[in-house]
Amino acid sequence: MIKVDNLTKSFGKHQVLHGITTQVEKGEVVALIGPSGSGKSTFLRCLNLLETPTTGTITIDGVEITKPKADIAGVRQRIGMVFQHFHLFPHMTVLDNITIAPIEVKKMQPDEARTKAHALLTQVGLADKADSYPSRLSGGQKQRVAIARSLAMEPDTMLFDEPTSALDPEMVKEVLHVIRGLAQTGMTMLIVTHEMKFAREAANTIYFLDQGRLVERAAPESFFTRPQSERAIRFLDQVL
Ligand code: ADP
Ligand code: MG
Repeated sequence: MIKVDNLTKSFGKHQVLHGITTQVEKGEVVALIGPSGSGKSTFLRCLNLLETPTTGTITIDGVEITKPKADIAGVRQRIGMVFQHFHLFPHMTVLDNITIAPIEVKKMQPDEARTKAHALLTQVGLADKADSYPSRLSGGQKQRVAIARSLAMEPDTMLFDEPTSALDPEMVKEVLHVIRGLAQTGMTMLIVTHEMKFAREAANTIYFLDQGRLVERAAPESFFTRPQSERAIRFLDQVL
């Protein structure tokens, strides 16, 4: 479904991604792990063209999105992204945060968008927060609204960049619970995370990145019990 071929990314003279080649199947859940600065965020951002790859190709369902004339807006609609910081619109209610893009960008009927938003709020466990403003929500609730907002565009792939890193420990669980639920719906997902237990339990595949290279790509059981590279062994030693 998503095919990445020899992807590189440089910022000026600084090469951040060194030829990443991989393939993500429909419904696959990938956990991206690796040291800080290894290129995890840059890799995710290339997938929805928030960054322009320097060389290499990304193909989604047979359409190469790295061609100069690719439909960038269309790609971003199909690939939702959730960030560490929630980026909700502070002056809008939760419901309006969720409905604005479907109405403005997808030209969905407002009634339909609101019905859908309520269903999504139920899905993320916030059915009673539709009329609240973000400032009244906890971090975990804000992140769940951000997930609902992203889902409102009906993406077929979701990218999460450290979705729980800005949260107090007691709120991490509720967000991971929502992401797990999403995995069970068959959503294709790539998740940058430092939550190793979650990665091990929820992902189909672990990607270990180091210095811009995809050093290991393995099933969780195999990666966590038998990491192959010196670098992954050292990393796991530090985080487990
Ligand atoms: P990770 O998410 O694994 O911590 P990043 O993808 O954020 O790593 O960053 C990888 C490297 O790319 C880092 O050295 C970082 O400083 C650099 N980098 C990321 N974004 C930019 C940018 N917009 N301009 C210049 N350098 C960047
Ligand atoms: Mg990052």
